[in-house]
Amino acid sequence: MTTDKCLAVKQQIVEAGVHMIRTGLVYGTGGNISARLPGMDHFYITPSGMAYESLKPEDIVGVDYDGHVVEGARRPSIEHMMHAAILRGRPDLGAVVHTHSTYATAVASARLPIPPFLETVIATTGGREIKVADFAPAGSRELAEIAVRTLGDDSAVLLANHGVIGLGRDLREAMAVCELVEKAAMAFLLSRIVGGPVLIPEQMVARQAEFFRAHYGQGRGQ
Ligand code: 13P
Ligand code: ZN
Repeated sequence: MTTDKCLAVKQQIVEAGVHMIRTGLVYGTGGNISARLPGMDHFYITPSGMAYESLKPEDIVGVDYDGHVVEGARRPSIEHMMHAAILRGRPDLGAVVHTHSTYATAVASARLPIPPFLETVIATTGGREIKVADFAPAGSRELAEIAVRTLGDDSAVLLANHGVIGLGRDLREAMAVCELVEKAAMAFLLSRIVGGPVLIPEQMVARQAEFFRAHYGQGRGQ
């Protein structure tokens, strides 16, 4: 991989961090972001506990799939094992975003999976619910294992009493998943206040999922 391409990935992570803090998906130094390009034998991840708006590309850390630092002078995010475990098992992925957004965290703390009750959820999850991974301490190997196990081949998961993980082929996609989870969690909670949500019948969910897969947007890779 050329230095230019690696620098571009690091720059994208820095920009994604600024986006994440400015849009309220995280606060303080919470959350973390990783990304890679096809063919890379490691990935890049945000450093632990640094303010997003202060980050420079050289603060981004290169980590291999066993969790060893291979590039950079900073300590990587305490969740680097979680990112490594997710990316190792999913060659389809280019990015992992972990957030602490408020509504999603509230739902995750109540340990409530988010059902495919909105069109936007169906479009993002392919009609699946967004599951809640059991609680494990931040930065632990248990959390990495539980997250991977609960995710399976889903694109989002709630972490009990903690936050959200969103996955994508690139950073834009992974960030959009985290944004969707937050908005869906907000609508889910509000709906529960007024006795809902009424769920969409399973057959209809499957039909919509297929419709979005085949017809929404401009097609893959465009
Ligand atoms: P880091 O700053 O080490 O990435 O930790 C933040 C976090 O969200 C832990 O779960
Ligand atoms: Zn966290």
